[in-house]
Amino acid sequence: MMPILAYEREPFLRSLETEVMRAGEERDRPFVVLADTILYPEGGGQPADRGWIAGVAVEDVQTVEGQVRHYLAGAPPTGRVRLELDWVRRFDHMQQHTGQHLLTAIAEQRFGWHTTVFHLGEQLSDIELDTPKITLEQLTDLEEAVAAEIRAARPVTARRVSPEDYAALPVRTRGLPEGLTGDIRLVEIAGIDLNTCGGTHVRSTAEIEGLKLLGTEGMRGGTRLFYVAGVRLRRLLAAHHERNAKLRQLVGTSDEELPAGVSAKLEQLKDAQRAARILEEGLAVESARALALGPEPILHAHWPERDLAFLQRVARELVRLAPERVALLMAGDEGQGAFVLCAGERATIDLAAAGRGVAEILGGRGGGSGRIFQGKAALSRRAEALAWLRTLG
Ligand SMILES: [Zn+2]
Repeated sequence: MMPILAYEREPFLRSLETEVMRAGEERDRPFVVLADTILYPEGGGQPADRGWIAGVAVEDVQTVEGQVRHYLAGAPPTGRVRLELDWVRRFDHMQQHTGQHLLTAIAEQRFGWHTTVFHLGEQLSDIELDTPKITLEQLTDLEEAVAAEIRAARPVTARRVSPEDYAALPVRTRGLPEGLTGDIRLVEIAGIDLNTCGGTHVRSTAEIEGLKLLGTEGMRGGTRLFYVAGVRLRRLLAAHHERNAKLRQLVGTSDEELPAGVSAKLEQLKDAQRAARILEEGLAVESARALALGPEPILHAHWPERDLAFLQRVARELVRLAPERVALLMAGDEGQGAFVLCAGERATIDLAAAGRGVAEILGGRGGGSGRIFQGKAALSRRAEALAWLRTLG
């Protein structure tokens, strides 16, 4: 049986002197097992802690074969070592996790919704409740009830009990890990909840600081409920506030008018794009008309500022206006451009073969059907491609 480790005995301990018991490697990742540890191994929905062992960063912590493995970013240290915990990250996890206990307990007592899954995310956390729908009114009600229990500063404590004592207690979750032997760890929110849990928690509901519900999502017949708690809640609000300030400046409206302001700008953008499309269409037609009058045996043009779609428009117009002509049209810059080779129905060239030849000379690739062959290529050898086309007669 695993000894009771420091992260469980003293969840507020931030550093510890201990000893490296074993060093190893697992799929090219070096790890160490310590005599004792303040780093929590992933489990019960709570992510693994981060920290440092003798200054070497710990990237992951997992329980493997009854031992806590600390996976390291560098060479494993030996002997006596100082272990340090990434406390800011851990305290955040304790706030989200204890918040989940409280949220789960109140959802169950007030609405009879059972929590089936807990997920502590990088941005938001969520629980899955076995109810197909939660109304806005219920959400408000639930959030207010959670807030009242945070204000009540109810003590949160953990203890281990024997399986016999456990059987006699009114514990919420009866689902125990398979093959569990020995004492069972219980976490209690005084007067609210008694639950089995191996995670780390704050000492009072007041240390959750605050908990905000952030909406729901239907999921496998249940409902996923998103929330944030604690310091993370204040950080999130600060980030939203900062983003809103930037948006206010960009759009030139108040917070309240932002959605309408952005919507109006998008409408303007759509109008501008429509106008640009009409202008480009006109430009393509005019370009085709001007080109069709050219005296060269192979017509050619290059528009550094335009793209393949423009070339296709010009080509469609050109094969209609000058069915006996062949044209090589290019767009974009020397490094990464596009080309179209087109031939009207009275032109004698084998378009597919000529197109492949041009693509090869330009070091690109392409394909086509009907009267237009198109491709992507660098354009630095376009003079060579044109000269080769002229030899096809
Ligand atoms: Zn817990």
